[in-house]
Amino acid sequence: MNIMQAWVIGNWKQQPATLQAVDELLDSVIKRLPNGDVPLCNTMVIPCHVHLPAANSKLTNTSVALGAQDICAFSAETGAFTGDCSAAQVRDAGADWVLVGHSERRQYYGEDNDILLKKLRNALSQQLGVIFCIGETKAQYDSEQTLQVLEDQLSVIQRIISEHASESNNEANLAERLIIAYEPVWAIGTGKVPTVEEVTATHSHIKQVIKQYAGAAGELDNLCVLYGGSVNADNAAIFAQADSVDGALVGGASLNAESFLAIAEAFSAAKASNVQ
Ligand code: PEP
Repeated sequence: MNIMQAWVIGNWKQQPATLQAVDELLDSVIKRLPNGDVPLCNTMVIPCHVHLPAANSKLTNTSVALGAQDICAFSAETGAFTGDCSAAQVRDAGADWVLVGHSERRQYYGEDNDILLKKLRNALSQQLGVIFCIGETKAQYDSEQTLQVLEDQLSVIQRIISEHASESNNEANLAERLIIAYEPVWAIGTGKVPTVEEVTATHSHIKQVIKQYAGAAGELDNLCVLYGGSVNADNAAIFAQADSVDGALVGGASLNAESFLAIAEAFSAAKASNVQ
């Protein structure tokens, strides 16, 4: 049986405060990794840009992948964009992945579909994988607009898929470099979570929509869709047992090595029980 590995990804946001604390957190993660990895579950951490080189040195020769929290929309390499880091620069600093479309970027920096499309193109042009975040606000959830909102956000992926389909043989590549994270905005950092039935239905819809975009080629049939929003060591197993949940994007709980790896272990155990 060809079983897809789960992903558990820690988005550290603007934390920890110091390089020393980054070192300590990574040492703690590495020390706790049983036999160097978590079976059937990939792990990744996403520190802020200035901490990427140090994290990269620590994580070399470990199974923990490294991502960046953002890239410049306007240039994939270099340019006059004060304060921004490009896809090429974060890649050079050691990142293999980048978060695009996180709700905090959408909310505080006004990032819309046009900007996110540019970021996706830049990431892919530099061979970065993308964790593309989507999710509805509480008001949208309450007025039952969730699926409509997600489809609008996923239209960016539709554009990327059609651009890649026109460049010969690139879609297989896309399947390896694209992860979708469904994160209801109202669940991020709040301790509130949707029911597992709601997440299951939403993930199935996301997979179906992407499948339609990809068409007959079928390379995105096994798209990895993560759940994010107040995942912790206590509730991870509930989400992990849902077939359509391929892992978790974790904020607060990823700043503690023990809880981060407990979440990874929960997904590992769920995958292992599927193999049996
Ligand atoms: C996030 O910011 O992507 C996130 C899921 O945060 P938290 O786990 O803290 O809700």
